[in-house]
Amino acid sequence: MSRQVVIVGAGPAGLAAAEHALRAGAQVTVLDQAETPGGQYHRKPLDGYAAGHSSPEFDRRRRLLAHPRCRWWPGSTVWAFDRVENRLHVLRGQSDGSGRRRLTLVPDALVLATGAHDRTLPFPGWELPGVYTAGAAQALAKGERVAIGKRVLVAGAGPFLLPVAESLLGVGAEVVAVLEANPFATVRKGWSARPWRLAAHLGKAVELARYAATLARHRVPYRLGRTVIEARGTDRVREVVTAKVRADWSVVPGTERTHEVDAVCVGHGFVPQPELAVAAGCVLDGGFVRVDDAQRTTVDGVFAAGEITGIGGAITAVAEGAVAGCVAAGGEPAPALIHARDRALTFAERLATAHPIGSAWRDWLREDTIVCRCEETTYGELTRAARDAACPGSHALKLGTRAGLGPCQGRMCGPAVSELCGATERHHRPIAQPIRLGELAARTEGDPE
Ligand SMILES: Cc1cc2nc3c(=O)[nH]c(=O)nc-3n(C[C@H](O)[C@H](O)[C@H](O)COP(=O)(O)OP(=O)(O)OC[C@H]3O[C@@H](n4cnc5c(N)ncnc54)[C@H](O)[C@@H]3O)c2cc1C
Repeated sequence: MSRQVVIVGAGPAGLAAAEHALRAGAQVTVLDQAETPGGQYHRKPLDGYAAGHSSPEFDRRRRLLAHPRCRWWPGSTVWAFDRVENRLHVLRGQSDGSGRRRLTLVPDALVLATGAHDRTLPFPGWELPGVYTAGAAQALAKGERVAIGKRVLVAGAGPFLLPVAESLLGVGAEVVAVLEANPFATVRKGWSARPWRLAAHLGKAVELARYAATLARHRVPYRLGRTVIEARGTDRVREVVTAKVRADWSVVPGTERTHEVDAVCVGHGFVPQPELAVAAGCVLDGGFVRVDDAQRTTVDGVFAAGEITGIGGAITAVAEGAVAGCVAAGGEPAPALIHARDRALTFAERLATAHPIGSAWRDWLREDTIVCRCEETTYGELTRAARDAACPGSHALKLGTRAGLGPCQGRMCGPAVSELCGATERHHRPIAQPIRLGELAARTEGDPE
C-alpha cells in the first residue's frame, strides 16, 4: 500500500513536496489555511481563481492538486500536533466563519512547509495607523489590489523591499523612496563573493534588473545605509524621520531627514513559523527547523522544507520541497534534485550575509517606545523589568511585562522582545494556531476517507 503523506502549507515548498511525493507513488493530502494554493510567493487575487485565470504556473498547480492520488484541502488550519499519537488536528472552514469542522489525520509521513512571516523591528511611532509591514503591504497590493497609502516610504533590509515597491507602484501609490539599511559595502560583499555559485538564481538577476527599471521609470530613489528611525503623527502617520546608519545600524548624528508620507512600509526580513515543528518535538537552530540532507527533521517521519528551515526565497523553497516530498514518500531523490537544492541554498547564505540585522537598532528606541503592540509594553518597562531581581530569566520577564503574550502571541514582536530579553529558546505551545473555545469543545471527526 502506498504511503500517506500529509503536507502542511501549499506555498512553493509544499507544492513541490506534493509533486514529488506523487511522483514517488504516495497518497498525498495538501492542507493550507488559505483558500488558494501558492503561499506568499504566488499570491493572486481570489477573483483571479474565480475567473479561471490561466498561466502555465496556475495550470500546473491546478493539474497537480487534481491528481487522483492528491487530496487538496484549502481553508484548513492545522492547529495542533499530538506527537504521542502522531496525530494532526485540523480545522476546516473559513477562519472568520462559524461552523469549522474539527478533523484529525494520522499520516505515515508529515511534511511541514509552513513558511515564514514578516520581521519588523520596533521604532518610535511604529504603532501608528499607516505603518505597515512589508509583507502586509505586499499582500494587500497583490491579493486585493489595494495600496496602503498615496505617498509611501519603503524601508528596512533585504531584496524583498523591491517587489513590494513594484507592487505599490502597480496599484497607484507614489513611492517616496526605498531605503535599505545596510550600507553598500555590506550588500556588495554579501552578493559578490564567488558569483558563479549563484548560477541557479540567474532569474533573480533578471528580476532585479526589472525592479531597477521600474524604480527608475517612476523616479523612485533607492538608498543604501539609510533607514526609518521614527514615525510621527497623532491620528495616523504624517511624517517619518530617516537617518543614515552605520554597518551596525547605529545612527550617524546630524543625518536625520523628515519626509511627508501617509503610509510607511517596513520589513526587516522574515521569521519562520515553526510552531507545528516545535509541537512535533523537532530541534531548532536559531529559530529554524534543523534538517539533514534529505530534509528530515530530528523527529522520525517528520520532514521540513521552505522558509521554516531558512530564509532563501521561492527557488530554495521549491528545491527543498522536492527533496522532502520524494523522501517522505519513501523514494530516493535523484542526485540532480539534491544538487539543485544545494545550489539553491547558496542564495539563503548570501541573503543572510548581504542583508544582516544590525545590532544597534535598539538605540533607536526610547523609554516610551512600544515594543509589544498587543500588550502596549514599552521599552522602558521591559528594561526596568530586566534589571529587577523578581523577574529572573526571559520567561519570567515576559510573564512580568506581558510582552509577546497578547493576541498575536509574539508573531509581531516576538523576535525583537526575545532579543531585548536575551532569550533564544522557543517554548512549546500545545495550540499552534488560534482556535475558538466552542471549536475546542466540539466533537472531533477522524479522517473522512
Ligand atoms: C506576507 C509575505 C509576502 C511575500 N511576498 C513575496 C513576493 O511577493 N515575492 C517574493 O519573492 N517573496 C515573497 N515573500 C517571501 C516568500 O515567503 C518566500 O520566498 C516563499 O513563498 C517561501 O515559500 P514557502 O513554501 O516556504 O512558504 P509560504 O509561501 O509562506 O507558504 C506557507 C504556507 O503554509 C500555510 N500555513 C502556515 N501555517 C499553517 C497551518 N498551521 N495550517 C495550515 N496552513 C498553514 C500558509 O497559509 C502558507 O500558504 C513573501 C513573504 C511574506 C511573509
